[in-house]
Amino acid sequence: MYKKYNIINYIYRDRWIPRPHSFMIQSPPVLGENALVKRLITPSGSWDIPLIRSSFSREEVDAILSIPIRQLAGDSIIWHFGTDGNYTVKSGYKLGHSIWTINAPSGSSNSGWWNTIWQIKVPPKVKSFLWKACKNWLPTAFNLAGRGVPTEMLCLGCSKRPETTSHALWYCETLKRIRFSCSFTAGPKWRDDVEFKDLFLFYKHVLCVEDVELLCIVWWRIWFMRNRGMHSISGHCLDEVVSWASSYLEDFKSARLVDTSCLVSSSCSNELVTKWTLSPVDTFKVNVDAAIQADKQLVGVGLIVRQSNGLVLVASAQCFTACFSPLVAEAVAILRGLQCAVSCGFYPVVLDSDAKWVVDLINSGNETQAEIGAIVEDILVISKQFNIPISFVPRAANMAAHVLANNGLRSCTDQVWYEEVPHWLESVCCLDSSE
Ligand SMILES: [Zn+2]
Repeated sequence: MYKKYNIINYIYRDRWIPRPHSFMIQSPPVLGENALVKRLITPSGSWDIPLIRSSFSREEVDAILSIPIRQLAGDSIIWHFGTDGNYTVKSGYKLGHSIWTINAPSGSSNSGWWNTIWQIKVPPKVKSFLWKACKNWLPTAFNLAGRGVPTEMLCLGCSKRPETTSHALWYCETLKRIRFSCSFTAGPKWRDDVEFKDLFLFYKHVLCVEDVELLCIVWWRIWFMRNRGMHSISGHCLDEVVSWASSYLEDFKSARLVDTSCLVSSSCSNELVTKWTLSPVDTFKVNVDAAIQADKQLVGVGLIVRQSNGLVLVASAQCFTACFSPLVAEAVAILRGLQCAVSCGFYPVVLDSDAKWVVDLINSGNETQAEIGAIVEDILVISKQFNIPISFVPRAANMAAHVLANNGLRSCTDQVWYEEVPHWLESVCCLDSSE
């Protein structure tokens, strides 16, 4: 049905715009008689809005912008994944790819340490920290210099050795007392040029579960104090790291006990879902939502991907120009959520939207000739190919995506966050993850 649109259509000769009667452009051919529709599309794969606005009548502009570019690209979904920079989470790909790689089933040498981190019973932010440390992503002096940031490579604490991750978290001589107060860490006589990941895996292997948990908190605390510039200031503070970490861990565990009992009782009740729920262990959940501002021809899309423990992996607030109906906008949000999940490699994954009509349409399998049909078709291709269930949830269970969509609309730009989310989003996510 949408194949009547094609990027190799002639702008002025073909019937390609969705408007009654002629389906043809009536404005004078300022772009040349033989201009093709693809002339109106930017290299990144979105409508060239300034060009369109300057070349057509207001009514035609609305009609053109109401066509999702997908419809112009024919059957292939390659278009979306490949070139439309508007909504592939481009910079997230690397991150996503690494998540995918390290989550890959057996055969990947990395899967071990990834799973190892996620199984440790410490707060998500500590896991996230450990992950970065293992990936060498902490902005230590050595790592920064390696990324071309003009900076001193030496450790500020001891001024003697390059500040590698292992050095900053463990081997700096200013941390000697901490190493000694962790009686369990009479480990290998490694030096600070050892990869932190190897150090971590070694201790994970030789220590008991409780000691690993404590050690993870200690590392996290050391990094915190290093960032506060406390390395050299006060040996006294450093002395307290281990005792601080063990009481922190105790608090976390007792809070967790309460949490777990709440979870059990709530999952037994048959109440309607009124808030966001954690996805099953070892799965991801994408929440999406759309918002529109019709008078400005703006569409906001919010999407957020969370781990089964509630940790935010990717959040995105997007904004683009189009004259979509609310339902089409919601369908586009779902499509983008799927594309983000697939391109970042989050699997297995489920997707939640609060657009009941759209979700029902998708799950009914009914074909529709309406505007929304082509998008639903794309959604079905991806959700079937990657086995991603799409479910309806009430707005109250979709607040983070809702807030993101509105933020996208307000800020008129595309924003993406990885793990570290802005405060306004964090509070919504905390509410979601609490019981
Ligand atoms: Zn040092």
